[in-house]
Amino acid sequence: MINSILNDDQLLRYSRHILLDEIGIEAQHRFLNAHVLIVGVGGLGSPAAMYLAAAGIGTLTLVDADTVELTNLQRQILHPSDSIGQTKVESGRATLAHLNPEVCVNAINSHADDTLLQKWVSRAHIVLDCTDNYITRHIINRACVQHRVPLVSGAALRFDGQISTFDARDPASPCYACIFPTDRLFFNEVACSTMGIFSPLVGIIGAMQAAEALRVIAEVGCTLVGRLMMLDAMIMHWQTIRIGRQADCLVCGSMRLVSHF
Ligand SMILES: [Zn+2]
Repeated sequence: MINSILNDDQLLRYSRHILLDEIGIEAQHRFLNAHVLIVGVGGLGSPAAMYLAAAGIGTLTLVDADTVELTNLQRQILHPSDSIGQTKVESGRATLAHLNPEVCVNAINSHADDTLLQKWVSRAHIVLDCTDNYITRHIINRACVQHRVPLVSGAALRFDGQISTFDARDPASPCYACIFPTDRLFFNEVACSTMGIFSPLVGIIGAMQAAEALRVIAEVGCTLVGRLMMLDAMIMHWQTIRIGRQADCLVCGSMRLVSHF
């Protein structure tokens, strides 16, 4: 009976997922009904969006205000050379349509401000933060805490990458602001757009963000909630540190108190 959830083409397209005991038809069906919000379709958002589309996520919403430039092409693999001058979200939608025409892609050519995120985060099953500035990261985090939507946060600069998952549905989970408090914003924000970045590093972190999203949706394995993984891609060394909720966090502390968490 469960076979009838997927049609014949889907059973073939996703057969290598279905063959995995941990996924199977049931989780693949969840993927097809899932909505993932990807904020930022640059270096991290490119591989994340491509793997999620290939894996059969039903709806992807892409948010980005930028247009494709020549300097992006070294690492932003969602965007081919002939997309220079197009908006990144339209370029991304075209690439994803080639990869998997079944996927519904919402292309939002806009800055990720609070109004926009309130609307789209509340509609998503999970959010991927693939941006490159701390102010936007905090706006995304606040919306995810408020709407209790899991957030997979990735970052990459030079040869350094990091990733963690924050799940506001879990009372034990920290939020992004527990680890990176809003009153201690980092000072290298401007540098993110002007400093170098090792091309495959964003592929590694972005693909991990896609893997996290799939495992959170499928509810399999052990997510990165409570763990921050940091990669030094120059020596290919991973370091994992335990991270916990901060009771005095200005974001999740007060919101969860109101929510009787
Ligand atoms: Zn917090």
